[in-house]
Order: sequence, then C-alpha cells, then structure tokens
Amino acid sequence: MRKSFAIAIAIISLCSVIHAKTGALLPPNVGVPGVLAGTVAHVYEQSNTFRAQCDRMAQAQNLRVTVKIDFNIPSTCRAFTTIRRSRGFLCAEVHLPPGVDLSELLGHEFEHILEQLDHLNLRALSHVRGSGVREVEVDLFETARAQRTGKIVAHEVLTRQERPSAD
Ligand SMILES: [Zn+2]
Repeated sequence: MRKSFAIAIAIISLCSVIHAKTGALLPPNVGVPGVLAGTVAHVYEQSNTFRAQCDRMAQAQNLRVTVKIDFNIPSTCRAFTTIRRSRGFLCAEVHLPPGVDLSELLGHEFEHILEQLDHLNLRALSHVRGSGVREVEVDLFETARAQRTGKIVAHEVLTRQERPSAD
C-alpha cells in the first residue's frame, strides 16, 4: 500500500516537470507560434516580472493575445503591438522581429497590453506633461512604463542565467 502511494507521487511530479518544459504554463489566451514556444517558456521560467504579466493576462476574460514573428517590422521601431477593442473585448497582436534576443521585447510589448487592460488612454496621456507617454507617430504610442518593464525582464533573464547552478 505504501509503495503504490510513492509511485503515484512520482508520476505526479514528473507530469508537472513535463508541463513546465513545454511552456504549457503560459495563459491559454496567449497564442505563441511553435517556433517561439521555447524562447517564451525560457523567459517565463527566468523572469518573475514576465510571469506576473502572464498571470495578469490569464485572469483577463476579455483578452486574446497572438504573438508572431514579423519579417517586415518598420525601421522606426524594434517591435510593436496592435490592440483592437471591440465591445469590451481586447485583441492584441504582438509583432516581434526574427533573430534577436526577445526577453526585453516580450516584457515591453506585454506591458503595452497590460496598459490597455488598465484602460490607459494613451492618446490623452500623450498630451500630459510628465505622463511618460508620447505619440511616436500617428496612433503609435510609446510609454516609459513599457520601456522600464522590458528592461527589468531582460535583466531578470540575464542575471538568472549568470547565476551559478546549484547542482
Ligand atoms: Zn513600446
């Protein structure tokens, strides 16, 4: 009896490891293409801030996020996110460039989505001095909040990697 109990525990813990390795802990409403799954899962594992962002998104009933690699990102930006709001539902499309470290960009673009979950009116704020919001070009906004969060996520991923392994 005691033995079968131990086996059951072993199977459960193995399952949770597999679960984590496949990145299945990402919110179900965040769609990531297969080619990016490993990268996003890595950032998720290394960065507390990115995990908190994902948790926030997972709790949003009115949100759908699609992450994609975009080979035609305009030269004026490194990455961008389009967000459409329709009848209270938010559809966000995160466009990331190919072939670069995505830690900062993921944290940065995901923060723009959280800004919209927070109902920030970027257009109005861009006219407020000291708000940290500016209109880069028509209908394209940049925020100090997203810039700061992206840098924090990148830093967390970097310092975790540099830390000597315990085993
Ligand atoms: Zn931005």
